[in-house]
Amino acid sequence: MVEAVKATAGPKVPFVDLKAQYRSIEAEVNEALLQSAARGDFILGEAVGAFEQEWAQYCGASEAIGLDNGTSALELSLRALGVGPGDEIITPANTFIATALGINSAGAKAVLVDADPGTYNIDVNAIERAVTPRTKAIMPVHLYGQPADMDAILAIAGRNGLAVIEDACQAHGALYKGKKAGSMGSTGCFSFYPSKNLGAYGDAGAIVTSDGKLAENIRMLRNYGQRVKYHHQFAGYNRRLDTMQAAVLRVKLPRLDSWNEARRKAAERYNQLLAGLKVVTPVVAPGVVSVYHLYVIRTPYRDELQKFLGGRGISTGIHYPIPIHLQPAYTHLGYKPGDFPVTEAQAAQLLSLPMFAELTGEQIEWVAASVRDFEKERA
Ligand SMILES: *Cc1c(COP(=O)(O)O)cnc(C)c1O
Repeated sequence: MVEAVKATAGPKVPFVDLKAQYRSIEAEVNEALLQSAARGDFILGEAVGAFEQEWAQYCGASEAIGLDNGTSALELSLRALGVGPGDEIITPANTFIATALGINSAGAKAVLVDADPGTYNIDVNAIERAVTPRTKAIMPVHLYGQPADMDAILAIAGRNGLAVIEDACQAHGALYKGKKAGSMGSTGCFSFYPSKNLGAYGDAGAIVTSDGKLAENIRMLRNYGQRVKYHHQFAGYNRRLDTMQAAVLRVKLPRLDSWNEARRKAAERYNQLLAGLKVVTPVVAPGVVSVYHLYVIRTPYRDELQKFLGGRGISTGIHYPIPIHLQPAYTHLGYKPGDFPVTEAQAAQLLSLPMFAELTGEQIEWVAASVRDFEKERA
């Protein structure tokens, strides 16, 4: 009964609000799309080349290659490195399914590692035990917008002769000791899925790299295996970034830093308002600047809290409810419940609160007050 009365006391809070962002850039985006159409410039057009340069420069890499999505970025990075059947790639059990799918698509096998209990990123102390003679690369994920411990990962890779492919699909603009996410490995992989920190108006992705040979290989892989039209060096793919999507991304990129700053401000406000409650707020490692793709809290009463917030018009998410090793798609990897206890506990306890650049102070206060009310009622 108490709940029904309170439900009218706050604003509706969506999980993300893509329409609010569109309204803030509407005229410029419309103009960019119309110009592409008017020029008949659709495939590997002007906006693709321009965005590739701008994105490479933003990330501190020498080249960027625009692709159709982030899963392709992971797959083509591996293919360009010569990874294929029989090869193993080490990656965290706590990630979005696309990380593992990118490995599969290249014909390789994902070897999973548990999560760090504080940051939820890959547990760097468990990586070396997963290395075998078939291991070719480590694929860390900068989960929820926070870079993984890259110094430790690059040191392990160096000792064992492995490549590092960064899954930076949630970390556009995040910093590790001053370096941009995606700029530290052999390649950095990005998705511009609409709800990412930098999102297109459809599927899109990119690889950044400072290895010219890898870049050239990836450019051919994405475009029918050709360098020159109708001359095919190998059987490639069609994985190009759409010109219209590149046009949208070019409008948005100059705003990325201020949008990320707004997310950090929102996260700080959540942290202040949730301090002293039982829910655990995000832990950011020293030397790291997170871009808060997601704002993830932890509580043993996750499902109850999610329902309670839903009843107040607050949308939340779970990232991710089933770890990779317990997905039906990956039974063939041979893992069982209990293999990655930290990840499994997190899957049962993590809850993502609404997070986007346009979130208002009033919305944040309503979410935090509701978490507080939930804890009071439960006590
Ligand atoms: C979004 C995402 C991807 C790739 O997604 P696409 O939908 O293929 O663009 C890969 N890894 C992670 C961690 C992601 O969040």
